[in-house]
Amino acid sequence: MAATAKRVRVTGQVQGVFFRDTCRGKAAEQGVSGWVRNLTDGGVEAHFEGDPQAVEALVGVGPRRARRSGRRKRRGHRARAAGTQHVPGAGHRLARHGLMTAPQRTTGGPHLKVHVPEELRLFLPSRLRTRADRAGGEGLDHPYDGTSSLGHVVQSLGVPLTEVSRLRVDGTEVPAAHRPADGAHIGLVPVPRPQPLPPGSPCPPRFLLDVHLGALARRLRLLGVDTAYRNDAHDAELVDRANAERRILLTRDRGLLRRRTLWLGAYVHGDAPDRQTADVLSRFDPPLAPWTRCPACNGPLEPVAKEEIADRLPPGTRRTYDTFTRCGHCARLYWPGAHHRRLAARVAAARGTDGRHPS
Ligand SMILES: [Zn+2]
Repeated sequence: MAATAKRVRVTGQVQGVFFRDTCRGKAAEQGVSGWVRNLTDGGVEAHFEGDPQAVEALVGVGPRRARRSGRRKRRGHRARAAGTQHVPGAGHRLARHGLMTAPQRTTGGPHLKVHVPEELRLFLPSRLRTRADRAGGEGLDHPYDGTSSLGHVVQSLGVPLTEVSRLRVDGTEVPAAHRPADGAHIGLVPVPRPQPLPPGSPCPPRFLLDVHLGALARRLRLLGVDTAYRNDAHDAELVDRANAERRILLTRDRGLLRRRTLWLGAYVHGDAPDRQTADVLSRFDPPLAPWTRCPACNGPLEPVAKEEIADRLPPGTRRTYDTFTRCGHCARLYWPGAHHRRLAARVAAARGTDGRHPS
């Protein structure tokens, strides 16, 4: 597939991390590679490479293009949104500066060869994923602004650094702040399983789950894993709490994992709770203690004498069961009732998943 490369210059007071990150984010969404950098005159220069339509859509960011939204409504709408939200003030002008067409690699600036292992390719936008699959051992040819840190380059590709254990440049391990040279081969090593935790981390590990992971929270609590969860927490609250309580933040939101202040987070693979549970257990290998935590609130379950709680039991339950536990926080009662077999199967499945916790 032919790729297009375009260089654009945005004049006016647009310098700043926010504008550059917005450009990078939009480029990643479109599967377009490239770079954005500040110019000495206060403007910003950007270089985009990729599918011609996608590049055109990015070049069209700005008020002038936004007016051409009639025939290409969706793209026009995007362009207008970008123009009003992310290019503050009036009088900004997008001027095309150079136009190149190239089958694979284009000139016009430094490039990196980025080797994204298969396990991490799901984070790439689909167009880049296809290119990475095709490139195989060659690595992705990725334009580079010559100044961004390697960590920034990797995140701009869509890969959260929480999922990468080591970065290599031409075979040598480097920190995320490293600035690679033109033509460098970049290697990404996925986190190992189980993943060693930073020194001083709580042991056993404890977790905080993003708002959409309620079912996973109940599964982990059922297995006795310390799991905090609230379905109304904002992103900033989640990060603050994870940091304050040294809980590992589990989420499927890559933007959340990109937050610089987050001490430790992990992407949760899979849509279904079974798959998600297996993913978390294999990644962090927490010790399991089934039936010791309240699935509803994460409180500790303690055995309680039947006589003490007999007045709270339905008559059928009072007749049938003798063993009860009570949550130390919310006082909910648990007994091996109708759901027990299904829950026991889940516990057994989870224990079998990582093979480390024989019953
Ligand atoms: Zn409870």
